Amino acid sequence: MGPGYGNGQGRGRGRGRRWGQQLENHGIRPTAGRELVFSVMRETEAHLSADDVFQEVRKIEPGIGLTTVYRSLELLYQNGLVNKFDFGDGRAVFELSDRYSEKGPHQHLICRSCGKILDLTGFRAEEKSFAEGMKNHVDKEYGFAAEGMAIKIYGLCSDCRKE
Ligand SMILES: [Zn+2]
Ligand SMILES: [Zn+2]
Repeated sequence: MGPGYGNGQGRGRGRGRRWGQQLENHGIRPTAGRELVFSVMRETEAHLSADDVFQEVRKIEPGIGLTTVYRSLELLYQNGLVNKFDFGDGRAVFELSDRYSEKGPHQHLICRSCGKILDLTGFRAEEKSFAEGMKNHVDKEYGFAAEGMAIKIYGLCSDCRKE
């Protein structure tokens, strides 16, 4: 599956140098590599591995190293600009954080056969109240202030079920 760019905006020369201010707002010193990596993440709706990001960044800046991409992604993750997931195959997957993504908050369905990752949005009332109950539980029993919850549902996607 390709990175799935949603639109053609911002491609071409200078494409990577548009997000410096936003990085600075998050306390990140905007180097060319970091801006490029963030630019790739901003322009896709997909869930990308570091290697996927590396392949995209290389199309714009062939000289960039994989280590730079790894470190930049890690920095963006630590500062809340991208989400990082481990969907069980030992490979970290990144996606633009909810606050910048048009997708907004969502959960994930992971197909164990083809590896496809689907976004699950739009909770029902009973699912929302389950999440609220869980937050109350960890608050009362563990004194833990829950800020979010990540749900990963494993199984077979509709395509793989047909086979
Ligand atoms: Zn599948
Ligand atoms: Zn997602």
